[in-house]
Amino acid sequence: MTERQLARKKAIIRRRIFLGLCFAVLVLIIALVAFIIKAVVSAPEDKNPSEITSSDVSDVSSDNKVEEVEPQVNEYGLDVTFSNLLLVNGKNPLPDDYDKNVREFLVEIDPQYRNNNYVTKIHKDVYPYITAMVAKAQKDGVDLKVWSPFRSYADQKVLFENKVKRVTDSTGLTGDAAEKEAATVVARPGTSEHNTGLCADFNMASSKFADTEMYKWMTENAEDFGFIMRYREDKQPITGVIHESWHWRFVGINVAKDINRLDMCLEEYVEYLEKNRG
Ligand SMILES: [Zn+2]
Repeated sequence: MTERQLARKKAIIRRRIFLGLCFAVLVLIIALVAFIIKAVVSAPEDKNPSEITSSDVSDVSSDNKVEEVEPQVNEYGLDVTFSNLLLVNGKNPLPDDYDKNVREFLVEIDPQYRNNNYVTKIHKDVYPYITAMVAKAQKDGVDLKVWSPFRSYADQKVLFENKVKRVTDSTGLTGDAAEKEAATVVARPGTSEHNTGLCADFNMASSKFADTEMYKWMTENAEDFGFIMRYREDKQPITGVIHESWHWRFVGINVAKDINRLDMCLEEYVEYLEKNRG
């Protein structure tokens, strides 16, 4: 073998080693990217205190088997399968520590969606739904605005005590009797849905809301964004709360449509789901 042939052979070997190294590096990069994607996809979600009774309506089937459902997104980019059925009322108060734990899940509602600068926060899970709803109403020429979303237990205590005073002034009732009467209109701290961050009053907390175009729009469109009218007139014997046309609760899009189709209030629906689960 001449010196020239030897040099050429060495060059070929060097090239093969170089190509081999390139290939090995490429395989390593692909493996690394695959590992990162897997880690991101399977990362556990935040523990969320409002998901205590979170449930998906499509999980309920006649043979009680849980069906895997792929997330479905609607025209507004909202997951229609996401739901939250946390039931809060006079008989089902929130845990004492909910008020403290929910704080880290609250987000500020952008001013363009609200007409109140004192109470401005909502649960982060509800944020995309409520803002998409208000944006759509405004696009339809309806001046829907969030008036009162999340309230702390302390805020609720002030509202309740003020209501008790007004009841005493107008009826002469005192003590437990006055509190009981007040509770049909203003919930006690820890028993108000406003303490969950999952609901909101719109535009005004007044029965006049029922005569507005905002109310009409909500009755026709709210379920498309996962909201239900929480306190219907005909359901007062069950909810224990007077008709509140301005108060709307997020439950999830599929669930809201299901509740309206079944003509139920949340109390009835939660019981219905429990019975179906057996
Ligand atoms: Zn309300």
